[in-house]
Amino acid sequence: MPKRKAAQSSAVDLIPPRPTLSSLKNAAADCRACDLWKKGTQTVFGAGARRVKVMFVGEQPGNEEDLSGKPFVGPAGRLLDKALEAAGINRKQTYVTNVVKHFKWEPRGKRRIHKKPNSQEIAACRPWLEAEIALIKPDVIVALGATAAQSLLGAQFRVTKQRGEFIPSTLAPFVMATVHPSSILRAPDDETRQLESRRFVDDLKKLTKLIK
Ligand code: SF4
Repeated sequence: MPKRKAAQSSAVDLIPPRPTLSSLKNAAADCRACDLWKKGTQTVFGAGARRVKVMFVGEQPGNEEDLSGKPFVGPAGRLLDKALEAAGINRKQTYVTNVVKHFKWEPRGKRRIHKKPNSQEIAACRPWLEAEIALIKPDVIVALGATAAQSLLGAQFRVTKQRGEFIPSTLAPFVMATVHPSSILRAPDDETRQLESRRFVDDLKKLTKLIK
């Protein structure tokens, strides 16, 4: 087992000089800049090619992601895949990551239930996301859900009011937020789920013109 570095409040000192995606991922595997490494099975770093135009940023890995070590491979990731296909976007042309790279959860019976990361955990993990953005230099960043949107666009940002709008930002030429696909999965009934899925695809379709 690799020796871990001393605990610290931000991952900034762990970013390797002249990083590549693989050196970043390796360094993040040993991160203990917040306490979430104690709960998660492993660091779940972003995934995708170095040269892509679109970066999706979610909140944190879920149960399946935590076990597999790959982002967006669980039910929400499969919904994202389907929505991308419906919008005419190849997932291989995207990079997917999260604002927090460890799964935060609490037990409920035998299940591990998602628990929202707090502002200290988000801040501690921020250097990894900034390094990913700096390397990939995406044309478009899409925040998925309120945690990612507020982390990238400010605490005042409201996905309910501003979803699908391109927001001026220094992070990328185009930055947009929409719902997290897990919120669609939690819809109370089939009709709402289908409606929300269509709205999600409509938001993603706004990217297609930008990435041709
Ligand atoms: S959540 Fe982020 S900052 Fe916290 S230990 Fe994991 S990789 Fe490091």
